[in-house]
Amino acid sequence: MKNNKKFKIYPIIAPSALSLKSINFYLVKRDESLTLVDAGMNDDVCWNALQQTLKENGFTVGDITGILLTHHHGDHIGLVNRITELHPIPVYAHSKSVPRLKREPDFLNMRIEFYKQLYLEMGCGKLGDKQVAYLFNAVDNNKDQKLNCDIIAITGKQWLNFDVIEFPGHAPDQIAFLDRKEKRLFSGDLLIEHISSNALIEPDENGNRMLTLVDHIDSLKRCLALQVNLLLPGHGNIMKQPGPLIEKRLNSIERKSQKILSLIESGISTGNELAKELYKQKYISEFPLVMSEIIGHLDYLEYQGKVKKQLIEYVVYYQTK
Ligand SMILES: [Zn+2]
Repeated sequence: MKNNKKFKIYPIIAPSALSLKSINFYLVKRDESLTLVDAGMNDDVCWNALQQTLKENGFTVGDITGILLTHHHGDHIGLVNRITELHPIPVYAHSKSVPRLKREPDFLNMRIEFYKQLYLEMGCGKLGDKQVAYLFNAVDNNKDQKLNCDIIAITGKQWLNFDVIEFPGHAPDQIAFLDRKEKRLFSGDLLIEHISSNALIEPDENGNRMLTLVDHIDSLKRCLALQVNLLLPGHGNIMKQPGPLIEKRLNSIERKSQKILSLIESGISTGNELAKELYKQKYISEFPLVMSEIIGHLDYLEYQGKVKKQLIEYVVYYQTK
């Protein structure tokens, strides 16, 4: 069936004090439907921003017909409970989002075990133990982040008149929604104009480590090939013709990879030592992000056959080939 109907997009831009600059989510009107793409943070700033955009355009929360989620992160799903408790509407996400959004105990425990093993392998010592303890406490502390509504898994390549495109890397469940006619893409956190989006290390549903940086690079390349006119990101400015920025990001990933390779060549051989050397103070203040970055690059280098590894008493040592 030919799709000639137009989508009308109403961006909701909530300011953020963090380096994210803003939390963006979008109302999309088409015929009788009013879809919310992502749902901000669970706070009054996002709630008020949603209310204001609704009001300015003559809508109320009761007019929203469904919620589409780009990925499971807290700054994209925050208002789902608040909206669906007032007004029960279907919520759609990638099937991989479901155990994360429902905070399924088996999944969360498996994830903690995964990081425990990972930080041990990378030689992280005390900071690794501290992060694992944090994750363990977060099971209880973040209980209220669980989504209470049913989540419908998106299947197939089309949903609510959007083309659905998988872009794993930043998150394993990340998907983007394309308005094919106008070449406008709701892209989650695939590409952010003012900061580079992290490929975060995560286990798959079986507890195996995913090659998140390899996935992220592939996602960026596929996004580049789409040649979209407008990219509607989860944070920061909306971007016209994002091609040059995607190329810039791909180049900077290659440069960093090269830098890590030369550190390994110089004899620094564990994930932990590489992280300390490359990130200095940030290694302590942003430990999980920094380790994600380093491990992503180590996996990428191994995937390309540039490094080999050796396990000695639970710790993995990297060497150039
Ligand atoms: Zn995210």
